[in-house]
Amino acid sequence: MAGDGEGPAIGIDLGTTYSCVAVWRHDRVEIIPNDQGNRTTPSYVAFTDTERLIGDAAKNQVAVNPTNTVFDVKRLIGRRFTDPCVQSDMKLWPFKIIPDTADKPTIAVSYKGEEKKFAAEEISSMVLTKMKEIAEAYLGSTVKNAVVTVPAYFNDSQRQATRDAGLIAGLNVLRIVVEPTAAAIAYGLDKMSNIKGNKKNVLIFDLGGGTFDVSLLTIEESYFDVKATAGDTHLGGEDFDNRMLSHFVQEFKRKHNKDINGNPRALRRLRTACERAKRTLSSAAQTSIEIDAFFEGIDFQSTITRPRFEEMNMDLFQKCLELVENCLGDAKMVKSSVHDIVLVGGSTRIPKVQQLLQEFFNGKELCKSIHQDEAVAYGAAVQAAILGGGKGTEKVQDLVLVDVTPLSLGVDTDGDVMSVVIPRNSPIPTKKERGYTTSINNQTTVCFKVFEGERAKSTDNNLLGRVKLRGIPPAPIGVPKLNVCFDIDANGILNVSAEDECTGQKDKITITNDKGRLSKKEIERMIEEAEKYKFEDEQYRKKVEAKIALEKYAYNIRNSLNDKKISGMLYPAEKKKIEDAIEQSLEWLQKNQLAQANEFEEKMKELEGIWNPIIVEIYRPGTGGGWNSMKDHNASYTTSTSGTTGAGPRIEEVD
Ligand code: AMP
Repeated sequence: MAGDGEGPAIGIDLGTTYSCVAVWRHDRVEIIPNDQGNRTTPSYVAFTDTERLIGDAAKNQVAVNPTNTVFDVKRLIGRRFTDPCVQSDMKLWPFKIIPDTADKPTIAVSYKGEEKKFAAEEISSMVLTKMKEIAEAYLGSTVKNAVVTVPAYFNDSQRQATRDAGLIAGLNVLRIVVEPTAAAIAYGLDKMSNIKGNKKNVLIFDLGGGTFDVSLLTIEESYFDVKATAGDTHLGGEDFDNRMLSHFVQEFKRKHNKDINGNPRALRRLRTACERAKRTLSSAAQTSIEIDAFFEGIDFQSTITRPRFEEMNMDLFQKCLELVENCLGDAKMVKSSVHDIVLVGGSTRIPKVQQLLQEFFNGKELCKSIHQDEAVAYGAAVQAAILGGGKGTEKVQDLVLVDVTPLSLGVDTDGDVMSVVIPRNSPIPTKKERGYTTSINNQTTVCFKVFEGERAKSTDNNLLGRVKLRGIPPAPIGVPKLNVCFDIDANGILNVSAEDECTGQKDKITITNDKGRLSKKEIERMIEEAEKYKFEDEQYRKKVEAKIALEKYAYNIRNSLNDKKISGMLYPAEKKKIEDAIEQSLEWLQKNQLAQANEFEEKMKELEGIWNPIIVEIYRPGTGGGWNSMKDHNASYTTSTSGTTGAGPRIEEVD
């Protein structure tokens, strides 16, 4: 439960392409708009010579700074550098990915003229920080606690890495909730009255920017029971963009005999155009792409039709349906018993996806009533409110979520055989124990390798870590009794322990860097660095504000001087003095764009020192409706050296 003074707990949908934040307030969920008024924020982080940008500001400058603008990190998080998915994505990303010593991919960018390397968790933490700040600005209070969502099909290390990203962002992650389940909460609350006393089987079809999830739930009153889940953490809108991108790269090659691969700027511009074209094709039968001076001064123009787009992605669309079929199979449910098919995620706007899904369910109407882009954050906010124990949550307090584990978990046994301890789609939280023994006579040490996955051969699955039992009393093969316990918490995060029944000796799993997880020390360093970046951002913001304030002030005075009423009240020498001061300030600004905030403030004070006494005098009350009487422009004007401002007294106004 959240502590006092920590502000309300928020729900964050940390998406591949866009993120969304929401809060439970005034008896309902509020989706929080960002500083641009947008309800979703691009999951983009950019580094420039002078600053770090996150969200819209980062996405808006991507074409001019492609190699230092990072996006799609959700496709990297918790993966190894050598992972085929990482290898194929890298080819199309304009930013650089390099492996570290533990085969963990790191993102290399140039920031303030220096090469910097970031883990995917760090970039994700920056996006989370932005979402936290958006919520804080909206709520007018600090925010400490959050529920963060992940795709249902995220494995253990991807979930852990997301949790670490929250930690680096200074958030207390109350719970990791899976996206389709969060969307189901949005659906459930929306349809609450229909569901009352009615058990409904609901299929959530969540096709986003980078991931695909399908979940089958039974919803009864406020009881959300996930029956099965399936998905692919590397299938979504970005893949459709990539297909179109490759298509146009080939076309350009054919037409002009030039290969744009290796040119980050051209690739980035083409990718942006492809994503836009893809969206257009959801409502139009054909669209065109036009990029001026695309590559080596050559303009690029082409068209693409909806059928062509559909054809180039058909295998991916079909894959979604296969996963729907698997999910139904795992839940032991037939198509006809599904009451509602709920669309979630931006990519479900693709008409072909909708058509194929509808056909699969024999023409059943699809449910589009919940907001495709906001439903996940909505559900996360409800969970956050329940876990955060905030006020006014009575309406949702009784809500019960029973989630499932997406992958089977087990240990490696003799002959590279995966011995499953917790089968996939088991309700969580759960705790299961299984007994094992030695495989040779007098074996004193046993190392249990923990895997996740569905393959029969252990080594074809994902290695999560090892638990070791030492000092087993020598005994014939098969005699020692060794118990292994798998414990999955409500976040879907696994703890494994092993115990020798004879000696009582125990070992607990620590997820090692087998999967490229950050160490505690690395996380601590990143938290410190996140603070440093936050401070630097703040300093930069102050600097820009001070610069703009000075510029604005100088132009405002200049505008005032253009006002005949005001300029008519100034002596020529006085007018010249302030005009010169404005000129000097603007010139100084031109030459000192990178000056510090205090230098801008100093300059501002100098200018104020000249202008304020003049304007104060003009507005001095009791001199005719706030305005002094018009002065004689030709009157002589003596400059005083006695005043601190350097402005002379108005001799004709002396009483
Ligand atoms: P999400 O992760 O749910 O925010 O989904 C983002 C993905 O949805 C991105 O790949 C977008 O390009 C895609 N998307 C958004 N709107 C449309 C649309 N009208 N047609 C096709 N794809 C879309």
